[in-house]
Parts: sequence; structure tokens; C-alpha cells
Amino acid sequence: MNEITYLTSIALVRTLPCLAEPGKIIVVGKPGRDLSEVIPFLANLPGVIAYNPETLTLTFRRQPGFLTLYPDRIYITQVKDAQEGLELLKALTDAINATWERRKELVAAATARRAPRWLDILTLLPQTNCKRCGEATCMAFAAALLQHKKQLDECSPLASDSAYSDRRAALEAML
Ligand code: SF4
Repeated sequence: MNEITYLTSIALVRTLPCLAEPGKIIVVGKPGRDLSEVIPFLANLPGVIAYNPETLTLTFRRQPGFLTLYPDRIYITQVKDAQEGLELLKALTDAINATWERRKELVAAATARRAPRWLDILTLLPQTNCKRCGEATCMAFAAALLQHKKQLDECSPLASDSAYSDRRAALEAML
């Protein structure tokens, strides 16, 4: 193992049925090397929705589903089949190695991050209940956003009124 390459591969060790989407699978991977050293650097990449620095557990949102890394295993949800799982694990190996190679330019995350809560989102919405998003209230829209049933740009006041630009930026970062 040279100093640049962190790991050579992640083995697909198991597949499970994916309850979030019938017909799809969860892929369980085992990295060829413990991921403890690289996970804090990965935790500052885009797409992170939760990170626990004590357990070194890191979750990314992917489209669709989630990718969760532990030091000794990886779970990817809503995968089409084992072939796609192998391709995703290969791409993840490459991404981990690229991050490790750039680690001197990156900052290791030291603090926890958690998925946004419904109330955090509601606080940042316009809260006028104008119904232009198709929901009866901003509260309902916040819940639909968390469930990925709505997109942020469906709130047209938020998208078009510059008075909300800071709120929009905060929501984009959270979601
Ligand atoms: S469009 Fe925006 S402001 Fe109007 S009800 Fe929906 S979330 Fe609220």
C-alpha cells in the first residue's frame, strides 16, 4: 500500500432486500482497510446528512437512497442489483482514494452533524401558508421536503423573492 492509495477495494459481502423500495437491494460492503483515518475527511464532502465523530459513522444522501460508512463496513440502500452494487463500491473506493490523496488540502471534520429536523426546515420557510407549493401549509411542505416528496424550488416565494435568498441558501445546504 503506498501513501496515496488508501485502499485497493471494497468487497461486496452481502445483499439484503431494501424495504424503502421493494425490488431493490441493500448492498453491504467490507473495505480492504479500516476506514477510521479517512472518514473524518470524507465527512466534509457535499451530500453528508449525518456524521458522528465518536463512532465514525457517516451517512451521505445519494439519488436514490443512502450510503453509510462505518470503519469496517458500508451500506448502500436502493441499489438495482448486485452488478450496480459492485460498480458503486468501485466508485466509492476511487472516491475514498481521491479524498485521501487530497487530505492535506482538506479539513477533517471534528463535530457531529445530523439530519435536518422538520422544525429546522419550517423555521426557514416563508410561513405564509400561501399554498403555491400545492400543500395546504408550510408545515405540510416541510414534512414533504423531508420525505423527498417535494423539491425546494416548488416553494415559489422562496425561489423568486430575493428577501429569502439567505433562507434558501441555508435550506439548500441542509437538504
Ligand atoms: S409555497 Fe412556500 S410559502 Fe407558500 S405554503 Fe408552500 S412552503 Fe409555504
